[in-house]
Amino acid sequence: GLPPYDDTNIFARILRGEVPCKRVAESEHALAFEDINPQAPVHVLVIPKGHWCSFADFSAAASEAQQAGFWRLVGQVAHGAGLEESGYRILSNMGVQGGQEVPHFHVHLFGGRRLGRMVQ
Ligand code: 5GP
Repeated sequence: GLPPYDDTNIFARILRGEVPCKRVAESEHALAFEDINPQAPVHVLVIPKGHWCSFADFSAAASEAQQAGFWRLVGQVAHGAGLEESGYRILSNMGVQGGQEVPHFHVHLFGGRRLGRMVQ
């Protein structure tokens, strides 16, 4: 499984304000900012404000309010970017086989172009 949370990871530094980001939206429970290496015209990362490396940690250990607040911000970003009519994608890489690079749970939100299918 994934290692214990490491609070020196880049998203922890962004949450602490030690590293800048292009902020898209923020709430008590989550922060949304532009991916530094965008793969689509809209490519936003949404991270919970807490110490969770994996989705399993987050879903098991975060409070209902934290979880609801996180997913609410994901929805608000999609709405705010004007993607509801055109469509968009939410994706999360998890662990080694999932290709996760940053060990702070996050989801990617992609939109603004026709996205290729990954699952047939
Ligand atoms: P993942 O862990 O989801 O596989 O990939 C991490 C994502 O974070 C990548 O899309 C990468 O471009 C993005 N990323 C890595 N470092 C930074 C950073 O310092 N700032 C921002 N805004 N995005 C980053």
